[in-house]
Amino acid sequence: MGKHIDRFRDLLEEVVDLNAAQAVLSWDQQVFMPPGGTPARAAQLATLRSLAHSKFTGSEMIDALEAARTELAELDPDSTGTRLVTEIGRLIEKQRKVPKEWVAEFARLTTLAHETWEKAKTEDDFASFAPELDRIFSLRRDYADFFKPYDHAYDPLLDDYEPGMKASQIDGLFERLRQEQVELVAAIAEVGPADDSALHQHFEVDRQWAFGEKVIKAFGYDFDRGRQDKSPHPFTTSFAIDDVRITTRFQEDFLSPALFATLHEAGHAMYEQGVSPDLGRTPLAEGTSLGIHESQSRLWENLVGRSLPFWTHFYPFLQKTFPTQLGEVDLETFHRAVNRVEPSLIRVEADEATYNLHIMLRFELEKALLVGDLTVNDLPAAWNDKFQEYLGIVPPNDSTGVLQDIHWSSGYIGYFPTYSLGNLIACQWWQVIRRAMVDLDSQIERGQFGELLGWLQENIYRHGKKFKPVELIERITGEGLSAGPYLEYLRGKFGKIYNLS
Ligand code: ZN
Repeated sequence: MGKHIDRFRDLLEEVVDLNAAQAVLSWDQQVFMPPGGTPARAAQLATLRSLAHSKFTGSEMIDALEAARTELAELDPDSTGTRLVTEIGRLIEKQRKVPKEWVAEFARLTTLAHETWEKAKTEDDFASFAPELDRIFSLRRDYADFFKPYDHAYDPLLDDYEPGMKASQIDGLFERLRQEQVELVAAIAEVGPADDSALHQHFEVDRQWAFGEKVIKAFGYDFDRGRQDKSPHPFTTSFAIDDVRITTRFQEDFLSPALFATLHEAGHAMYEQGVSPDLGRTPLAEGTSLGIHESQSRLWENLVGRSLPFWTHFYPFLQKTFPTQLGEVDLETFHRAVNRVEPSLIRVEADEATYNLHIMLRFELEKALLVGDLTVNDLPAAWNDKFQEYLGIVPPNDSTGVLQDIHWSSGYIGYFPTYSLGNLIACQWWQVIRRAMVDLDSQIERGQFGELLGWLQENIYRHGKKFKPVELIERITGEGLSAGPYLEYLRGKFGKIYNLS
């Protein structure tokens, strides 16, 4: 790298350190901190955040960025130096377009709105949340306008989570998914959901923990560079490539939540652990987008962890772990149970086949609210109408309907589609992986994941944030985003499980 790029990288390393310090503090807050520590911790985090922001967008950084750009011509366009300047330079400039006053007002409003939302959800009182939600959408509209011209006001918001992606692309994908997924879910509903009573028994927490750990060790999550703890909401956090941690939570009366959350978070964590060491301590040393990240958590959780080959290997161990609960339950019944499909109210509890329908509904409502085609006061009714249309059920109240998610109260608008993109992208990779590894199923049946993890590291993980999501998808599949492989996967898998013709 040239000396100006080196200088730029040095400055970025300080920002990365400040961000890692924030991550440690917030991990501690969620895992160990006593409740009394909250106000002090909030102040500490705010100080670090503002220091990191000033360093990231300050004049010293801008000068270094501009100088670094003069050295680009001599470099390989895919080199770390080039990507630091182009990709991270783009982020710096994006942040600089947002006025300080907006940032302050947005922080103030979302802190308030979060509290209002929690109360409104508990009391099933949407009207009390409506004025602040209206203001959040209005601020988000202003935010989009900082990035004019755009095709759709949604685009600049989506770009924060999924760089380079546009609402029109999501429209196209969802158009296709909507019809076929609604049909599939309706066909499964006709057969009736699989019996999952085997999963609803008493399962001791320490044994759940031991089994989950055994599985993710076999996957290749590296405990020498990671650890697992308990927290109220499962998450993954990275302080460095060699220190990537996960958390999980347990339910004693239901086996699935902790088990699949552990596999899910391990998928996120293996992505972060797999970033190439030469990107270390740079902002490129992380997953490239939320959608690509979710493709990894879903791949390990669903494509591997809910598959028959996976359970062919692991079910005997699980039966040994819980002999009284599962000793008499056969493999096929268990596999059907972990793949139960049923339209349900709550997104985070939705199964593989219905999940995207929850996302589509939110995406469409967000877009309509953003451009003024829908008012916040009409939102609960619009939510229920779409729910009926897509899932065939209507929430009995707003608490389990329009008020269920934290995202809007936090100002995360444009975030939801990334969950669906994760499902789609995972299936696109999966088709390529199957061509590259013809004996994939039998490797999984033997509990061998080394070649699969190696493929993912080589093609995805090591690149970190060097390539935008769409670039990465094209490098690997030779084509763009597509809903085809996901629909094929769903039809194949659930057609078999539910004997659909
Ligand atoms: Zn996730």
